[in-house]
Amino acid sequence: MNPFSQRAMPMQSRPQGKSLGLRLIIGIGMAAFSLFSYFKSASVNTVTGEKQYIKISPQQEVAMGLQAAPQMAQQYGGLTRDANAQALVESVCRRLAALPKVRESGYPFEFHVLADEKTINAFALPGGQTFITMALLRRLDSEGQIAGVMGHEIAHVLARHSAERMAKQELTQGLSGAAVLATYDPSNPRSMGTAQVAMMIGNLVTMKFGRDDELESDNLGVRFMAEAGYDPRGMVRVMEVLASAGGGSRQPEFFSTHPNPDNRIARIKTAIDKLYPNGVPQGLKQ
Ligand SMILES: [Zn+2]
Repeated sequence: MNPFSQRAMPMQSRPQGKSLGLRLIIGIGMAAFSLFSYFKSASVNTVTGEKQYIKISPQQEVAMGLQAAPQMAQQYGGLTRDANAQALVESVCRRLAALPKVRESGYPFEFHVLADEKTINAFALPGGQTFITMALLRRLDSEGQIAGVMGHEIAHVLARHSAERMAKQELTQGLSGAAVLATYDPSNPRSMGTAQVAMMIGNLVTMKFGRDDELESDNLGVRFMAEAGYDPRGMVRVMEVLASAGGGSRQPEFFSTHPNPDNRIARIKTAIDKLYPNGVPQGLKQ
């Protein structure tokens, strides 16, 4: 007699019990693999001094950013034809890009003004492709404020936030994927609830990381603009501009990816006080 027939029989008559056990083992295995491969990727960021988990190289970041740039620009009406606006942003950004920390990073920074007159936004792709919309640029009234916005975006690149977020997303997807597999019972559709809850938790974790990234970039942005010779209080003004722009019926997209300006102003002021304990010196560029 086939020695396996004894085991094979109950497996066929009670498929749920057995396959749940199997799914649980696979789920635990997936979770363990996700955690292992995430924590294996630890490195210390030279700009922020913080330990971070990243799975791609700076070269891969640059390649990804260059590949995505035309598509991203297209979503904002393409690049502006306003040569003066582009020249102004580039002249400010060149001062930021010349800072030792930025230069030494080796990221080939490029700064673009997007034609979009309606969407208030600025963003950076991994590897140094950096953008600001005409809508945001028009609301700023000094070079220092441009330096504040773009310094913040440069900080996202140097802190490698996108690459970090990608690794985190992969981890949370791996973990929630494991949870879905372990808890979802195909014969009981209500078990989907648990699986969806697991997914949601995964997303929440990712969102929280995003806000921390923003605050870190505010801090670094303030530092960069001051080092480039601009009055860092211009960053406070940027936040005020964003806050007032948020009053209209159409919420600027900037708010969906960046935390509430009111909360950030207090933190930015603290960062400026820390940078200049004896007060902001006279004669900085506005
Ligand atoms: Zn940001």
